[in-house]
Amino acid sequence: MTHLNPVELIIRKRDGGMLTAEEIAGLIKAYTNGEIPDYQMSAFLMAAFLRGLDPEETSALTDAMLYSGEVLDLSDIPGIKVDKHSTGGVGDKVSLILAPIVAACGVPVPMISGRGLGHTGGTLDKLESIPGFRVDVSIDEYQRLLREHGAALIGQTAEIAPADRKLYALRDVTGTIEFIPFIAASIMSKKLAEGIDALVLDVKCGRGAFMKTEPDARKLAETLVDIGERFGKKTVAWVTRMDVPLGRAIGNWPEVEESIRCLQGENVPDLMDVTTTLAGEMLCLGGAAATPDEGWQRAQQAIDSGEAFEKFVEIVEAQHGDARVVRQPSLLHNRTKTIEITAPDGFRGYVADLDAHFLGRTAVMLGAGRLRKEDPVNPAAGIVLNKSVGDYVEPGELLATLYTDRTDLHEQFSSAVRKAYSLAEVPAPQKPVLIGRYTSDGWVNPF
Ligand code: URA
Repeated sequence: MTHLNPVELIIRKRDGGMLTAEEIAGLIKAYTNGEIPDYQMSAFLMAAFLRGLDPEETSALTDAMLYSGEVLDLSDIPGIKVDKHSTGGVGDKVSLILAPIVAACGVPVPMISGRGLGHTGGTLDKLESIPGFRVDVSIDEYQRLLREHGAALIGQTAEIAPADRKLYALRDVTGTIEFIPFIAASIMSKKLAEGIDALVLDVKCGRGAFMKTEPDARKLAETLVDIGERFGKKTVAWVTRMDVPLGRAIGNWPEVEESIRCLQGENVPDLMDVTTTLAGEMLCLGGAAATPDEGWQRAQQAIDSGEAFEKFVEIVEAQHGDARVVRQPSLLHNRTKTIEITAPDGFRGYVADLDAHFLGRTAVMLGAGRLRKEDPVNPAAGIVLNKSVGDYVEPGELLATLYTDRTDLHEQFSSAVRKAYSLAEVPAPQKPVLIGRYTSDGWVNPF
């Protein structure tokens, strides 16, 4: 490529100018190869953060990050391959339920997921709480799993979007994480590298999410869909509420257990509203349904008939997991100690609110998550809520069960969990979990 002067590009962006696609490609390539030092890239990141990137620049950044590594070609696997990505929340086990539903309905699901970091969980840690389950498979194995079982749930390989890994680490220490064009380019470069044909996005919104406000979540949804469509992939985004935890379980094995019950037909309303809505979208994009509503019905049938649960068992077996614990979760019940948190004196009323961020952080302290990338997790640790929003509580009743080896911190955990609850004398109106649907045709707001 032509000679690249990083200082000139930094100055131009600092002064509010635009960069061409070639300049962005050159910058990312040189940084990934180690030809541009961290201090120059840091200056560029901050200049872009403060001055903004327009849709063309954001798309060029995604392209540069995508082609920094391998872009998988799944075209010889029959079917329209559809994945789902969530921007992350507390108790978000949707992928565990969704992937087997969609695969059971004949749409291949190539899913490359991440680990939990901070107060949010990660699909890989949840899957690994099933003894033996392997997420570190080769690209060849990923393709074989997808061809033979209709789904592959794996971790990111070193070959996929290496520029993102390096840039994310730098953003993390330079105060440049919370910038929609960077977040969107980071997510989409990894998703587009998977070899998908279409994508459904779950953009979480609220205090337990990356995007705290609805305008920010909507902006991120629009940016993600715009990038997807520019790359020729049909993309649908839902903005969903993440103020309270999704479902009743937080933590890796507790969430797998709740997912198993949902796959066996239990209706956990907020969790299953999100899951079946996204499944409907995926089935429509994948050609197994004419409309998302028809897809929703098909998803429901796959649960009711037991096909979705059997597909989950098949996926677990194919990825070396112990399927006996999926059929009989009680086999794993005694892996850690429990603490029961009851409502203290005076604690009486309807649960009006439950702070997802606070509970997510508490789950990390219990051992369910990590504050640093290299921290180990306790697969059995977590929180199961006995009382959630809308429930009536009286003193002495069970609020939640905690699973942890750190019983020495019993008092600290008890007060943290109690603090997450807000009570009211009358039931508070329930806020719908589904906020808005965005495609290239614009917004549809269901409520
Ligand atoms: N998730 C990602 O993959 N990247 C970001 O930058 C933020 C969330």
